[in-house]
Amino acid sequence: SVSDGSFSSEESLKELGQLADTAGLTVAGSTYQKLANPNPRTYIGSGKVAEIKTAINALDVETVIFDDELSAGQLRNLEKAFGGKVRVCDRTALILDIFNQRAATHEAALQVALAQMEYQLPRLTKMWTHLERQSGGQVKGMGEKQIEVDKRILRTQIGVLKKELDSVRQHRKQYRIRRLSVPVPVVSLVGYTNAGKSTLLNHLTGANVLAEDQLFATLDPTTRRVQMKNGKEFLLTDTVGFIQKLPTTLVAAFRATLEEISESSLLVHVVDISHPLAQQQIDAVDKVLSELDVSSIPKLIVWNKVDKVSDPCKLRIEAEAREDVICVSALSGDGLQEFCDAVQSKLKDSMVWVEALIP
Ligand code: GDP
Repeated sequence: SVSDGSFSSEESLKELGQLADTAGLTVAGSTYQKLANPNPRTYIGSGKVAEIKTAINALDVETVIFDDELSAGQLRNLEKAFGGKVRVCDRTALILDIFNQRAATHEAALQVALAQMEYQLPRLTKMWTHLERQSGGQVKGMGEKQIEVDKRILRTQIGVLKKELDSVRQHRKQYRIRRLSVPVPVVSLVGYTNAGKSTLLNHLTGANVLAEDQLFATLDPTTRRVQMKNGKEFLLTDTVGFIQKLPTTLVAAFRATLEEISESSLLVHVVDISHPLAQQQIDAVDKVLSELDVSSIPKLIVWNKVDKVSDPCKLRIEAEAREDVICVSALSGDGLQEFCDAVQSKLKDSMVWVEALIP
């Protein structure tokens, strides 16, 4: 694992383990190496390769996952170095796998398929030259041609997918325009994956959005109507979880979904305040938000899972000192009334804006 500064290698690897678990794998063990530069052939050094190979045999391992993106050559060299018995993949492939398993709507499925193809495209190259070498050069040139054919097929498929996505998005845009003409403000939940967004949405609305202690339970924005005591309503939208080192192909694929955030009246940033890396997770989310250019939208910060922290009193005092922070437990329902009140008071300004749209 290469540390990006905010998450240490150990922390990033721990998260990789959770991702593997979410994908349905059982983690046998983990290891990392500090290198000035990754080895261009095998990413890790030869000593580490040997060490992992021993572990593979001892623990009957089927898959080896690397925490950073590997090139096609590195993937192939590693598979060979490990004795050809295990599948080698990287964080990106694993996340793509999870997204693939979890895409709940047609649009999400299209987005994931597109991201998978774009991930494959640069990795096709080495596969065929490899076959060429195996045949002792008898089919020289054939591999090269085959790569071109494969790339062309893949590019055509990518084109078809993009068109289909466009039409699905057009459809959704129409729906959004209709929704905007109704004087109900839209509140978007954002937050690191597993922060408790789905649980909060469920508790407030009784909607049965999948809430699991797994990464990426939510892959599609799900919108629900929340009615407040005074009869006022708002629409609450759950968005796809944010995570550090999210593959760029996926960020691009889900950009359209995330862009809907920019049309909301209020952002609610849900934080798992009981998590040891809460601050790093907040930073990772803020980084994506700053790329989406949503700084003008009012924001409310929710410190969730207060039932899990050791000193909730201290936390509440800290939160009270900051006017944009609310402490809740989405699981027990603690603090949800305060949350609704805070949403309402934050919405007052944007309500004017929404009502002004009505002729
Ligand atoms: P999401 O990825 O942000 O949508 O997170 P989920 O809503 O799926 O929640 C992730 C996990 O955290 C689930 O196991 C929830 O039951 C749990 N969770 C959510 N809110 C709370 C809370 O307030 N307290 C505790 N103890 N667990 C919570």
